[in-house]
Amino acid sequence: MSTSVIGAGIIGASITYHLKKLGYNDKIDIYDKLDAPGEASTSLSAGGARNLWSTPVNLKLTTESLKRFANFKEETGRGIGYENIGYLFCLYEDEYKQIEKFLPEWHKLGVNAELIPAQRIPDFVPNLMTDIDDEFKEFLDINQFKGALWGKDCCAINPTSYTTVMFECAKEMGGVELHFGKEVEKIIFTSGKVQAIEMKDGNKVHCDCCVLSAGAWSGELMERSGLNISIVPIKRMLFTVYLPEELNFKHIPMTIIDKGVYFRVEVGNLIVGRAKEDQEPGFDITVEKKYYEDEMNPYMQARIPKTEYCRILSCWGGLYAVTPDNNAIIGKYPGVEGLYLITGFSGHGIMEAPAAGQALAELITEGDYKTIDLSSLSIERFEEGNLIKETIVI
Ligand SMILES: Cc1cc2nc3c(=O)[nH]c(=O)nc-3n(C[C@H](O)[C@H](O)[C@H](O)COP(=O)(O)OP(=O)(O)OC[C@H]3O[C@@H](n4cnc5c(N)ncnc54)[C@H](O)[C@@H]3O)c2cc1C
Repeated sequence: MSTSVIGAGIIGASITYHLKKLGYNDKIDIYDKLDAPGEASTSLSAGGARNLWSTPVNLKLTTESLKRFANFKEETGRGIGYENIGYLFCLYEDEYKQIEKFLPEWHKLGVNAELIPAQRIPDFVPNLMTDIDDEFKEFLDINQFKGALWGKDCCAINPTSYTTVMFECAKEMGGVELHFGKEVEKIIFTSGKVQAIEMKDGNKVHCDCCVLSAGAWSGELMERSGLNISIVPIKRMLFTVYLPEELNFKHIPMTIIDKGVYFRVEVGNLIVGRAKEDQEPGFDITVEKKYYEDEMNPYMQARIPKTEYCRILSCWGGLYAVTPDNNAIIGKYPGVEGLYLITGFSGHGIMEAPAAGQALAELITEGDYKTIDLSSLSIERFEEGNLIKETIVI
């Protein structure tokens, strides 16, 4: 038996590691068109991880993944830049009331979350103004904060380190080979069974099992293979900006303010992001500095004095792999034996990677999910109309 994994991002790394950890004997070959582990969306992400979600499947995947990040050093003996910074969602009154309803369920599942009153917000983020002038409110279409959601177990990691270490550990268990600069043209199957993958140069590599972890490129690869998956690439941008000393932001959490503007400290600077609402699907990742200047920084300025000095130091665009309900597709591809999907993480692949990789590895090696039942994330949900309705999205 031979197994091919397409894509060496964080997801390809997690599935490879967990297969080997579960004693999978087959040789695993991982193919990536780029030159190093995690070089695509993984390394371009903000590295944030939270277990504050409205749907049980996302709650379970992220809660388990946060535990795995926290214990990573014990598990592997290596570091991934883990920082238990927490997440702070600043909330308007209606949002606050919505979140209040989730708390009992979260506590039952062991999620460490609490609502805090507005007066306590500056204890977490110095000088953040929970109320501002009416003129500003009207101009920016924003409101007074009623309070905030505080997720104490949430964290930040270095996703490239995680990816690299997972591959290193998998290789140490034996029977794992990484192939870079190798683009897969298509997956070949006959009589409802995976036979091989065909590379862009025409070479065919036999495999009985194929795992698709190609992120934002999964849709086009499946189309070239004559198969169907609904995943589109959507650009998201991040900005590293100057952090004035006077802000005293050394130990702030990942903070989410108005309109989904989020920021956290990284090596003495601030990284800031916001999903552009009208972003059309496509592979173009050109970064737009004006978007930060006009659509992100003004909200920071409205809330926190001196953030007008947070000028851009560097910036980049990357891709989300987006599905019709903004949640991952995990499980078997129906009608093609040996083809497994673990892709389309729509902006939360870092924070779900450990638990998702573990669960799919169980399905492959043991025929069923053992730790977390991910059958609700199967591709069949779209045809069956069982979409996952996640409401806590940034
Ligand atoms: C700006 C930004 C911020 C983000 N912030 C966060 C965050 O804070 N927290 C979080 O959880 N998530 C975040 N994400 C999302 C996260 O980055 C992704 O969900 C995650 O990286 C998905 O991992 P992946 O392995 O599926 O994809 P990728 O890392 O993109 O890996 C897929 C790999 O497949 C390879 N590939 C594709 N097609 C082929 C082919 N035909 N042949 C060979 N190789 C191929 C690619 O080269 C790539 O290396 C962010 C994303 C962006 C862009």
